[in-house]
Amino acid sequence: MNSINKPISKHSPVKAHILGLPRIGAQRELKWALEDYWSKKITQSQLIEQANELKHKNWTAQIDAGLDFVTVGDFAWYDHVLNISSYLGVVPKRFNHKSGAPVDLDTYFRIARGRSVKGEDAPASDMTKWFDTNYHYIVPEFSLDQQFNVNGASLIEDIKNAQTLLGSETHNNKVKPVLIGPLTYLWLGKLENNNELDANDIDHEDKLSLLPDLLNAYSHLLHEISLQGIEWVQIDEPILSLDLPVSWRSAFERAYNQITKGPLKILLASYFGPLNENLALACNLPVAGIHLDGVAGKKDLVNVLDKLPAYKVLSLGLVNGRNIWRNDLSKSLATLESFYHELGDRLWVASSCSLLHSPVDLDSELNLDPELKSVLSFSVQKITEVSILASALNGEDVAAQLSAADTAILQRSQSASVHNDEVKLKVDCINEALFNRYSPYAQRSLAQKSAFKLPLYPTTTIGSFPQTKDIRTARRLYKKGELSKVLYDTTMEISIQQAITEQEKIGLDVLVHGEAERNDMVEYFGEQLNGYAFTEFGWVQSYGSRCVKPPIISGDISREKPMTINWIQYAQSLTTKPVKGMLTGPITMLCWSFAREDISLKQQAYQIGLALREEVADLENAGISIIQVDEPALREGLPLRRADWADYLKWAVDAFKLSVAVVQDTTQIHTHMCYSEFNDIIASIADLDADVITIETSRSNMELLNAFEKFNYPNEIGPGVYDIHSPIVPNQQWMQSLIEKAAERIPADRLWVNPDCGLKTRAWPETREALTLMVKAAATLRADAKVVTF
Ligand code: GLN
Ligand code: ZN
Repeated sequence: MNSINKPISKHSPVKAHILGLPRIGAQRELKWALEDYWSKKITQSQLIEQANELKHKNWTAQIDAGLDFVTVGDFAWYDHVLNISSYLGVVPKRFNHKSGAPVDLDTYFRIARGRSVKGEDAPASDMTKWFDTNYHYIVPEFSLDQQFNVNGASLIEDIKNAQTLLGSETHNNKVKPVLIGPLTYLWLGKLENNNELDANDIDHEDKLSLLPDLLNAYSHLLHEISLQGIEWVQIDEPILSLDLPVSWRSAFERAYNQITKGPLKILLASYFGPLNENLALACNLPVAGIHLDGVAGKKDLVNVLDKLPAYKVLSLGLVNGRNIWRNDLSKSLATLESFYHELGDRLWVASSCSLLHSPVDLDSELNLDPELKSVLSFSVQKITEVSILASALNGEDVAAQLSAADTAILQRSQSASVHNDEVKLKVDCINEALFNRYSPYAQRSLAQKSAFKLPLYPTTTIGSFPQTKDIRTARRLYKKGELSKVLYDTTMEISIQQAITEQEKIGLDVLVHGEAERNDMVEYFGEQLNGYAFTEFGWVQSYGSRCVKPPIISGDISREKPMTINWIQYAQSLTTKPVKGMLTGPITMLCWSFAREDISLKQQAYQIGLALREEVADLENAGISIIQVDEPALREGLPLRRADWADYLKWAVDAFKLSVAVVQDTTQIHTHMCYSEFNDIIASIADLDADVITIETSRSNMELLNAFEKFNYPNEIGPGVYDIHSPIVPNQQWMQSLIEKAAERIPADRLWVNPDCGLKTRAWPETREALTLMVKAAATLRADAKVVTF
């Protein structure tokens, strides 16, 4: 008999639960089913059947592991913020949704993707990152006269199904539905007519006017849930770990006073960081319990017992939902025991956040190094870890499990595959001098101008060219061992030749080799560096059906041998124009991987920085005079709290500089970022001291340039003049006007002309056409330029 069906003992035991599970399935079953549905290969009922299977699997996993609750409502067809929009009838007007009607599956998909199997196409809602994770949600769009029409039928159905699975009505209360809380939901959305604002500038104050109606809707939804014999509902308010305006902090009390009126007990969950000044607020809300992230929010653990009123439950998340590392159970247990001492059965044991952010099941990995595997834990294993910790507190004998974890962790910590003394020594010896180029930009730029003799408004691209079927097939077969190295190399060389020929024909000034050999900008380098490991099925949902498989930083990082020199050198041999060396920067390598926890992120960034520095030096020695180091993830690595920004930005910027500040003044360093929201970090962007930065600006209509009103960006910049995410060929006049707009803020002799990101997802015909027009736009402006400064 599993513990969920155990009779309740004399003194109720400590409870164990998780905050949510990945919904994609161990083999990405949901991804395939969704994509098959969207392409009409399966029917809606087949899709629903697949989803039900996945839900059952997740519920069963929780029951089998002996958790005390089955969490329901964590499943989503696309994302769980959109789930709330669908329960509340928040559908933008352009989708012509009948007010009050339930949001059917096709409407749901149209909001997320702009189209579905049924219903008219309309522009999809925006999508943005879920806090500091790599998971994305569909931004709720509220109208000023927003009506909320509650329809929680799909959630209620899941609750009923989970209850059926539990097998007896006496266990109905073991189902714990989870909802995003009203304040977090409202915070994440945007009000209509505020489209021109980026996610950072959303006017949060105005939205509070919607709160009274929204709370009525939540009360209604909670009432429906309570009719199902539910005892506890988990309400997630992760915005409590953000810097909140006073108006929002005070809205919490109002909100929870209203929605706690019913019989349900609310577990108010927060995660991703410490609550700090919001901790007392959370503890005093009229809820039955709170959940804290004991990993990212560890700081709160010091104070929470002083603040928590005597009757409330504290759910403590010590099993990290955002990593892949095995829990140090003994250490977690020691922490839990001190809380147990104070709280007794008011203590619950949990995952730090939803396990959505970790891969599904380590057991799927059959080819991992056994020693590494012994210290890993994916969501299925994490459920067990939570259960073991609770069992230990409840006096069950888990000595064997604890010692297995201890042994594996200890062995790994002493393993030669983790530690490289040479790398450690090098990192220890890093000093400021390694971060700085020989001369300041002003001097370098003179040297570079006379070396390159580029025209005004030099044109370039971001790195990748269309990844044709031939290229992808060659890469796949080579990886599987079904294509010889000679044939693979030839295919890559042909694609490089094509890319160079195309670029010369188009008339671009600074060329690229096209990145045909790269499947992914992090994986490509990770595979060649020591200290990186790769899983086969370690997929994590990024958005909708899109999943990513982040590599694992498994040990000290070093470069075994040159990684890109041959390809770039070959490309350069085909042309007299400069070809850019192309690397992925240390912060992006770090942010898009599962990082180690035994050494700091800064140390890992420095290790990668040093490895890249060797590559940069080799590129320069091989005659490559322009080197681009991409850092698209620099901004997303920003901590949630402003107070933590300076520290992060310092080491992130230093790691970048470490990787490039080895070259002569005449070697030009470029960097690239795919976003424009860096008003608040523009000083750090300048601190990177790259000679040239290319960025996204076309979609936002050069909005970025507002940042330049207050800040005088000192180096060269290529604000992307067209959006590569769309197959539509841009208008030449439009690109010209964007460049002119840019020239109002940035001196023309520091402006570059380029698209806003790499072109690998595009096809050749539109790429050729778009770039030809872009080069024409630059040429027209160049001819018109009254003053040519060099
Ligand atoms: N150099 C990369 C490319 O062009 C940059 C990708 C990115 O910015 N995400 O594909
Ligand atoms: Zn980009």
